[in-house]
This record gives sequence, structure tokens and C-alpha cells, in this order.
Amino acid sequence: MQKDQLFTRRRMLFAGAAALGAAGTAGVLLAGGAEETAGTAAAPAPAHGPQARQTPKSSAFRLQPLTGDGPPRAAPRKLKVRKEPILRISGRGRHMMLTFDDGPDPDYTPHILDTLAKYDVPAMFFLCGECVVDNKELVARMAEEGHAVGNHTWTHPLLTALNRREIRDEMESTSDVIEDCYGERPQWFRAPYGAWNRAAFQLGAEMGMEPMAWTVDTTDWMEPGTDTIIDRVESGAAPGVVVLSHDAGGDRSQTVHAIREWLPHLLESGYHMTVPRRRA
Ligand SMILES: [Zn+2]
Repeated sequence: MQKDQLFTRRRMLFAGAAALGAAGTAGVLLAGGAEETAGTAAAPAPAHGPQARQTPKSSAFRLQPLTGDGPPRAAPRKLKVRKEPILRISGRGRHMMLTFDDGPDPDYTPHILDTLAKYDVPAMFFLCGECVVDNKELVARMAEEGHAVGNHTWTHPLLTALNRREIRDEMESTSDVIEDCYGERPQWFRAPYGAWNRAAFQLGAEMGMEPMAWTVDTTDWMEPGTDTIIDRVESGAAPGVVVLSHDAGGDRSQTVHAIREWLPHLLESGYHMTVPRRRA
């Protein structure tokens, strides 16, 4: 990435932080429970029930009566259109969710995956389509190792500056390439810079994706120093917190080093890292 592009991107990140702040406190996701959220969001819409899911594997799903609503595997499960993104998870116990944005990146993502594997911790990666095409094996590894993935658009644009068709293209193409190497379409999306608008919420819901924001921003993209990142995560740790880090988009060596410290600390403190349960 060129320096000027990087600069623009960072400036936009500032703008995005402000946009998210304006969103205020919003939805809560049940820890380990996409089912619960989905159930609430999708009720009462039996025509778009579990049989409409992409890759039904559970026999319970197959027992659901099929409807005349089109081919079961073709129709994305439509969701309620939210007005604000989900900012935290809820549930019993000291659950937190770790999220990593903008990748995958061949220099940093493997190290983060290694650390997660060392502690047997799942995370959610919000992927950009243009990074996925060059690093499909990393996305396949995420699937193998039990991580969740989300849609972070193709080129990481400011969605509020795009028209509806452009937003749809960004999101759909990214879901397509993720499906190629992850094995299923993402069920979550995150607007670049946290800059959401109504079209993004509507289109995400149409594509069966819930909007996921975050609670604690490590601000690792500012490269504030490994110790600062560690401190931000550890001081922000609390039940239900969603942590935002970045595994791409710049020099992420501080992020890589920081997680090697803060992850074991949080686990020793009794936190469990979780990701929403897959629906299929
Ligand atoms: Zn991003």
C-alpha cells in the first residue's frame, strides 16, 4: 500500500471513530449464540427459517418443513434491519470476543493465528475481499481452526460516500470470495471505519449478515507501542466486550507482539474468548 493511501485511510479511520460514537450504545449479541440473536431477529419469519441457510448440516434443520419460498440453499436468510450495529456480546460468565480487521495479511495474520492456536482461542476476522484473493490459504486456515469470519467490504471504502449499488457490489463480491475459501458465506459484517448508514444495514440484512461493531478499540492502527496496546486491552476487559485489533493495513508487528502478552493475561484472569456460534 502506498503511503498516501495509508494516510488517507488513517484519516478516514478518525472519521469512522466519530461516526461510531454517534451511533451510541446499541445492540447486544448473546455470547456464543448467533442462534439466539438470529432467532430474535428473524422471528416471525418462518419462511426464512433454518431451511434457508447456506449449508444445512444439522439433521434438525432438515426436519424443518420446506416452504415454497424458492430453493432452500439459494435464498439468504433475511434478518431484521438494525438501526445500529451490535457493540458487545452478552451471556453468562466472563465472555469476550476478539476481532481482527482488514486482513488477511501474509506478514501478520499467521502470527496472530499461531497465538490463538497456542491458547485454543477462537476469534472473528473481518476480511477485505481484495486481501482475501491473494491469501485464500489463510482464510482456509481460519475455517480449519474454528475462527469466524465477517465481511469488511472489498476495498475498505467509506460506505457513506457510496451509492446503494456500489455498497452492494463491495459486500456481495466479498461474501463470494470468502465463500470460495472459507466454505460458507459470512454471517457478520463490519463497515469500514465504523461508518454505517441505512443502506449498509439494509443490504447486510438482505444478505443474512448482522452488523458487528466493537466495544474496545486497541487503536493498534496508530502504532502507539506494544505496551499501550496491551494496556488498552487489559484495562478495557470486561464481560461482553468486543475487542477491535487489526491484522493488516500497515505495520502490525505491535499488534502481533501485544496479543502474545495480553491474551494469556486475560485467560489467567478467567475470561473466555468466544465467537458467535455458526448457524449451519
Ligand atoms: Zn477496517
